[in-house]
Amino acid sequence: MTIPDSPKITGLTTAAYTFPTPEPEADGTLQWKATTAVTVALTAGGQTGLGWTYSSPATAAVIRDELGDVVCARDALDIAAGWSAMHRAGRNLGTRGLVMQAISAVDIAWWDLKARLLDVPLSVLLGRCHSEVPIYGSGGFTTLSDDQLAEQIECWQDAGCTAMKIKIGESWGTHIGRDLARVEWLRKLAGTPTELMVDANGGYRVGAARRVGAALDDLGVTWFEEPVSSDDTDGLAALRSALRCDIAAGEYAADVYDIRALIPVVDCLQLDATRCGGFTGWLRGAALAQSQNLQVSTHCAPSLHAFVAAAVPNLRHVEWFIDHARLEPLLVDGLPTARGGALHPDNARPGHGMSLRYDAEKWCTT
Ligand SMILES: [Mg+2]
Repeated sequence: MTIPDSPKITGLTTAAYTFPTPEPEADGTLQWKATTAVTVALTAGGQTGLGWTYSSPATAAVIRDELGDVVCARDALDIAAGWSAMHRAGRNLGTRGLVMQAISAVDIAWWDLKARLLDVPLSVLLGRCHSEVPIYGSGGFTTLSDDQLAEQIECWQDAGCTAMKIKIGESWGTHIGRDLARVEWLRKLAGTPTELMVDANGGYRVGAARRVGAALDDLGVTWFEEPVSSDDTDGLAALRSALRCDIAAGEYAADVYDIRALIPVVDCLQLDATRCGGFTGWLRGAALAQSQNLQVSTHCAPSLHAFVAAAVPNLRHVEWFIDHARLEPLLVDGLPTARGGALHPDNARPGHGMSLRYDAEKWCTT
């Protein structure tokens, strides 16, 4: 490996791509009709790195207006210094939410750029702990008919998934009977060996979550995600003590302080590199989890997480979220493929090996 002579960041561009869902979708506490990917392209030394976050198009403005000048002219190999500078620049705006999603997209592009400058695959730069990363099928929106859910399950089975997750907590936990009936439908279609997982997206309060959780235990469900709001750490702790299924949360964590608050109250920590500071923040969070003997699972953005997930010893699995699995092939070429129940990070091309598709422009909104 020849290390380039201190290349400087010479350009940062950003764009937003919005992909409509096939029809309106919902989980327990939110509805949506589209998903927006906000991309960052960072250039230095004749190479370009690509990163993105799933967020509002407003994040593109944060990147352009608040981070551009902070990043440009910095040493392209010193990601940690650039990360700290971006974080400092967000002080008066609040460093969580959109600002951290903006930092995350830049950080991911930066890791890709650095690997390309060094002419190594990103998996080599990050270091490999696993040659492939197990995925679980995720989707099962509360808006789906039984037949539509069956289609999703078939898609997950085709990819070799041995664990599957659906949304419950419909309409803020007011349809518990249907929630449990859908879990029974999942069990029937997925078959006995499949690990069943559910996500309530904070739709219940503690009492209802305890009663639902007891029924889930009887149905053999092993993963109960956000049974109550992730802000209710006392509630998560009470449910973790009361139930056999694992309690999982973490998708909204933005930094090590958020992560530290959740670690004592979950059985598995979920981390989203597009929200918690990019690969830099994700690796820090995974190390914090490791310090308490916890596993980590990734949240959404499967093509990006394949690389960082392969780099940590305490990985449980990667969420193969159906909306993102559907749109990422429309956004980029060269993404890791799902087969045999796992994603296989690219170990041949420099960086993460992904580039914007020639026709992605038709989804571009900003
Ligand atoms: Mg979730």
